[in-house]
Amino acid sequence: MRYLILSDIHANWEALQAAVAAASEEGWDEVVCLGDIVGYGADPNRCVEWVRENSRYVIRGNHDKACVGLEDLEWFNPVASRACRWTQTELSSEAADWLRQLPLGPMPAGSNGDRFTISHGSPVDEDQYVVNLDEAAQIEGYLEQSVTFFGHTHLQGGFEYAAGVQRIPGVPAADEGVSVSLEPLARYMINPGSVGQPRDGDPRAAWAVYDPEAGTVTYRRVFYDLHSAQAKILAAGLPEVLAFRLSIGH
Ligand code: ZN
Repeated sequence: MRYLILSDIHANWEALQAAVAAASEEGWDEVVCLGDIVGYGADPNRCVEWVRENSRYVIRGNHDKACVGLEDLEWFNPVASRACRWTQTELSSEAADWLRQLPLGPMPAGSNGDRFTISHGSPVDEDQYVVNLDEAAQIEGYLEQSVTFFGHTHLQGGFEYAAGVQRIPGVPAADEGVSVSLEPLARYMINPGSVGQPRDGDPRAAWAVYDPEAGTVTYRRVFYDLHSAQAKILAAGLPEVLAFRLSIGH
């Protein structure tokens, strides 16, 4: 089985389309979505529809719950809360109902005997950012499977737990993909990066493909129609910074 791992799509239809088109060249068996399907971008309904139709395993992200009224927007910065309020008015009732019933991670995933964990933030808390080695080390005791996929930080890369914790980089700027061989005795926290709002300085849409049989995770990046995504954000009256940050990947 090959799993297409998507996270933090953030209502960016152009980025999702480009990622799916590029991933189709190699193919996959099942789609896994780590949450934050909506929020920030201008196409929440289309993105929800695609994930709903295509994903075998989906958990909610903090923006998904906030955009359907399950969380107080006081916790959000002004830009995020403005985008959330806009999304609340834009979402169809069908899309909102579907988002509302999404399970909270961590959640077991995998078919045909494959077993891995998916979470939005950390496996301890869906709102927790796992960015540095210290934060990664603190959650080691909560890793139930050898591989856990997580998102939330919008940073492609991850952590290997073997003799200590080591950082696994994502795709270098000059490349389109990089394959990581998983050691059988190690544990992993793997972040596919953000499809729709990367924050690692690389504006390209990010995702990963997991092949448990081969013991590999392949990180991928692709350019997408950034200008259309930005134009839609501006036309919708969403904060301008949400359009601008897409061009610098931050
Ligand atoms: Zn996010």
